[in-house]
Amino acid sequence: MITFLSGGTGTPKLIQGFRDIIPDNQISIIANSADDIRIYGLYVSPDIDTIIYLLCNILDTEKFWGIKGDTFHTLEFLGNLGYETWFKIGDKDFSTHIFRTDQIKKGKKLSEITEKIRSNLKIKSRIFPSSDTHIETRIITSVGDDIHFQEFWVKGRGEIEIDKVYIKNIRDAKTPKMALQSIDDDQYVIIGPSNPITSIGPIINLKQIKSKLVKNRQRVIAISPIIGNSPISGPTARLMKTEGYVVSPVEIAKMYQDVCDTFIIDISDKELINPIERETGLTVLTANILFKDTTVAKDLATMILNKGKSL
Ligand code: GDP
Repeated sequence: MITFLSGGTGTPKLIQGFRDIIPDNQISIIANSADDIRIYGLYVSPDIDTIIYLLCNILDTEKFWGIKGDTFHTLEFLGNLGYETWFKIGDKDFSTHIFRTDQIKKGKKLSEITEKIRSNLKIKSRIFPSSDTHIETRIITSVGDDIHFQEFWVKGRGEIEIDKVYIKNIRDAKTPKMALQSIDDDQYVIIGPSNPITSIGPIINLKQIKSKLVKNRQRVIAISPIIGNSPISGPTARLMKTEGYVVSPVEIAKMYQDVCDTFIIDISDKELINPIERETGLTVLTANILFKDTTVAKDLATMILNKGKSL
């Protein structure tokens, strides 16, 4: 069994590659829940849903959110009713959020609801939210507004000037037991190539997850979401700079050095092997980590599985 720590784009691309070589029932995913947002009266968990749709083979893999071929009539009519409709949800996609919200109203935890969705949709992998407590990535803008990450990234198209990023409620947040158990039990744990500030940060900085990773760190492998001086997609660079980080695989290695043992960077960054090993003590491997198609992800998955045999 392999456990992945995942956001909603980079790591799901890697998981696609693993699915080509190992059965779904050998995969566990701890998905970031700090992107969660209450909108249109519903509770939406974007990263968990991307993982659910990926494992049902219905994910729109052009955008890495939503369901392939979905329509947007409900959203359009919500607009007619006066809602702002910047957060795009397709008609089928709405069903997942209606189900989740209804279950929350019935007193169920996010992990219980995710498990129900998983089993109702006959997904064989295990999926855990990183937190059962509602946690939320918030942005302080340069004019002092405190806004949800989705308002910065989706509504504001990442163009708003910002001063700070923080994760609301993270200090005492509770991780589902089964997620912690999978870190203890699985052959190894992969910190996927996801946004270090908004996807991986809110997972590895959860107290209970951090202590499990530290304890099992010789079985934890991380993959850089950055090649050269830039991320492949999303607001990673902008957010890292805001938080005072240099945008480079070296910095990512420093951020993860307490919670992993092996760090994989792109072949084109091979001159960074020595500096990273010297500064962090991690074992650094190189591979092609730009997933232009699933073959690249599959090759990386094969390399990791082969390495896994020696862990
Ligand atoms: P979000 O939840 O949609 O923000 O997605 P993630 O956090 O999972 O993914 C965004 C991060 O994935 C960014 O930092 C990207 O650089 C990284 N990413 C996207 N595609 C790739 C890829 O092909 N290879 C690698 N190594 N990283 C990628």
